Amino acid sequence: MGINGRFIPEFERHYGTIAMYPFRTDIWRADAHFMQEYLINLVNCISKYEKVYLVCRLEDVDTLENINFQNVIIVPFEYDDIWARDIGPTFIVENEKTKCVNWKFNSWGGIEEGSYYPWDKDDAFAKKFANYLHIDCIDADLVLEGGAITTDGQGTLFTTKSVLLNRNRNPEKTIEEVENILKNELYIQNIIWLDEGLALDETNGHIDNILSVVRPHELCLAWTDDVKDPNYHIVRNCYKQITESYECVIHKIPLPPMQYMNTIESKGLTQNKDALERTEGDLLPASYLNYYLVNGAVILPSFGCPEDKTVYEQFKMIFPDRKIEQIYSREPLLGGGGIHCILHEIPEIRRPVCSRLSEKVEIRKSDINKKGMFAKSKIFQGEIVYVKGGHIITRDELYSSSTINSYLPISDEYYLGALSPEEEEDIKLYNNHSCDPNCGMNGDITFIAIKDIEPGEELTIDYAFIDNEDYSFKCSCGSANCRHIITGYDWKIPELQEKYYKYFARYLQLKIDEQRKHKP
Ligand SMILES: [Zn+2]
Repeated sequence: MGINGRFIPEFERHYGTIAMYPFRTDIWRADAHFMQEYLINLVNCISKYEKVYLVCRLEDVDTLENINFQNVIIVPFEYDDIWARDIGPTFIVENEKTKCVNWKFNSWGGIEEGSYYPWDKDDAFAKKFANYLHIDCIDADLVLEGGAITTDGQGTLFTTKSVLLNRNRNPEKTIEEVENILKNELYIQNIIWLDEGLALDETNGHIDNILSVVRPHELCLAWTDDVKDPNYHIVRNCYKQITESYECVIHKIPLPPMQYMNTIESKGLTQNKDALERTEGDLLPASYLNYYLVNGAVILPSFGCPEDKTVYEQFKMIFPDRKIEQIYSREPLLGGGGIHCILHEIPEIRRPVCSRLSEKVEIRKSDINKKGMFAKSKIFQGEIVYVKGGHIITRDELYSSSTINSYLPISDEYYLGALSPEEEEDIKLYNNHSCDPNCGMNGDITFIAIKDIEPGEELTIDYAFIDNEDYSFKCSCGSANCRHIITGYDWKIPELQEKYYKYFARYLQLKIDEQRKHKP
């Protein structure tokens, strides 16, 4: 079966947003006070449109819980700094199921050229957050920050050579190797490499400060007509590189005038050796391209210059279906990024219903039926071997449907079942019948070993444990006590009730107990 996959673009509907509460005093001035204030304001704006997962340290939980947030979930985690875009998981859909990719993170360039040290908590963040959301996470062998890539959601990826091919990120990899990893992990067919991002950017030129995808084949590109601007040639080269290999409309978004850190701002920082020194006169990475999309709105930065209004008007035209929320955003620039860098979308999460197998169990070819479930390693009596999943459906729904093939009764009235052939794949259990079974039930959906099971043995149940239905079939299980004809009412056989007393489905167990009460 082929695997369909897709890198989910930011402009599609979100499940929510990840934001992180700042605390570093060597990156965020005045004991991070101004950035905390900025972030709370930003979270309040976003939470009008979608749920916000606000990540904070354990010691900040009380402070944040005292704020009257709406639609905000406080999530305590460990992290080194707040760049959710770069350290967060990259979401993909694989066979209709949301998953994510966990890249390696080295603080934008490692010990020598990175922005802070250590970064191990940030490197671990994506996987931990994916676990928190109960989403499968795939480790990729590539140093990559989320802000270094963007997609149109139709198989094209945009990135910059100055980041991914930088010797401070992936020095041992050729461009072909990097491309192969991107294509394999993100189901990308077409990679558009720009030589570099904006000049003098400490990320080495992330794509998310220079280019954005509005919708497939419609892009925004940072722009300047000032020949003295160091980005004058860069943006023209980008324009050329994009239009040569991708059919699209490009909106040119003016860059704000160059902005620099001032004395007061730099004096508010704690200086130490853990983080890149930030001093008066440092160029700040201001760009309107570092906006962030939420459901129904665009969060657009402003920088206190005339371009703010121009871009606001442009964005109203580019995003006619979204409200434009413009927020003064000098504070994140002081730490080296913008709105887009400190937020990460969680796309609508697709979780197919599924059954769960123990890690000791595998499905393969069986002699009893076409396929069966087998012990991969020794399973001990009482261990759970698998749990049935599915939608709860009624008897009427089951009997009136032609698509429900895999089901398990959980009462006289209700069943667990798959509603489509795709779901059936995720739900189906190959629990073959034996008149001398090694598995039974514990409750209505959980199957357990009723004796020790050796590696390689097939897991079997007696259908008498689960069914109360009108059917019969010839059994050729080969066991010494084979009943030869199995019916859907075998649970009623007194000897079986005696022998497997504990192992019937709960709804049958209750019937058996009820009968016993009325018999002497
Ligand atoms: Zn049999």
